Amino acid sequence: MTSIGELRRRTLEGLSRQSYSIWSKDMVLLNDNANLFGVNPAVTQVAEKFDFARLWAYPSENSDELRARIGSEYGVSPEEVIVGNGSDELLDITSKCFINPGDVFCSPAPTFGMYKFYARVNLATIREKILRPDFALDPDQILSEDAKLTAICQPNNPTANLFASSSVRKLLEQSAGIVLVDEAYADFSGSSMLKEVMNSGVGIDIRTFSKAYGLAGLRGGYAISRKELVDELRRVRTPFGLNSFSEAVMVRAFDNRKWVRETVDKVVKERAYLSKRLQALGIKVYPSVCNFVIGNVPGDGPLFVEELKKRGVAVRDCNSFPMLKDHIRVTVAPRDMLDKFLVTAEAVLEGK
Ligand code: PMP
Repeated sequence: MTSIGELRRRTLEGLSRQSYSIWSKDMVLLNDNANLFGVNPAVTQVAEKFDFARLWAYPSENSDELRARIGSEYGVSPEEVIVGNGSDELLDITSKCFINPGDVFCSPAPTFGMYKFYARVNLATIREKILRPDFALDPDQILSEDAKLTAICQPNNPTANLFASSSVRKLLEQSAGIVLVDEAYADFSGSSMLKEVMNSGVGIDIRTFSKAYGLAGLRGGYAISRKELVDELRRVRTPFGLNSFSEAVMVRAFDNRKWVRETVDKVVKERAYLSKRLQALGIKVYPSVCNFVIGNVPGDGPLFVEELKKRGVAVRDCNSFPMLKDHIRVTVAPRDMLDKFLVTAEAVLEGK
């Protein structure tokens, strides 16, 4: 029998993706930046009236109702919107759509690892530009690569900061290739580059329902861009990508802006508490505009994360990112979860 290794596309050799996902109801999950303040009320609101007996039917191929709602929320046409099964799908199809083998993909580093992963699957030449010591972005360094696809996370995961909007604008104005601006955490920072993206010929703004909107389990994300660019993305997207229940919930989620705003307020309050308590434990914490903080652990970061995990608390080990040796990323959560983490962290640091 032929081995799968022989059948595998040769260029996938060496392509690996470490999984940091943990799916356990028994653990405190501060590792994936989901909304730990609860689920969007849209789920129960829709479930009460949803016609489950119609689930035999396919949903609309391009999620027309949701695209129309997103369009009206942001003041763009539905034709300038594409939705995906999580924003991850949109990151995937952006690479599929624009990368020829050998084309240059460029991003700052450290940043969200999936941009590079999808670019590599599509055989891009990867160029990463290390951020300045204060995690600021140098747009000229990125522009010097003349990349076919540039990915910017605004605000940036895992460093938790916003890049200067003038830097991102410069990339959007001067890049000859596509510039993807991932605003997964923008709801927490109150920022948006959508206007700049739409004014540029090459920008794609990507958003998710998984963070502030509290719907990670339903998987929904969207991209907003010029129609001409959206049309290209649609060519490679899976038809019926979003199931009909998810679509209905996501349309409804926009009616619950108050819930989202209150969640963001709670995140801001608990983020200050978490940062202060971490500093008191001797962990250097950086300013954050996201629903997570990063900190520099005194001593061995990966060991610290492993010890926490054994005791039922998951945080993200950032050791493999450039600049972030012995750093951890912790999702902001309600006080009881944070206290469980902090008590455990203190015990681990004291060698108990
Ligand atoms: N972008 C960033 C920056 C993220 O941190 C994440 C999730 N961790 C995603 C995109 C993907 O989110 P989803 O697929 O759940 O929309």
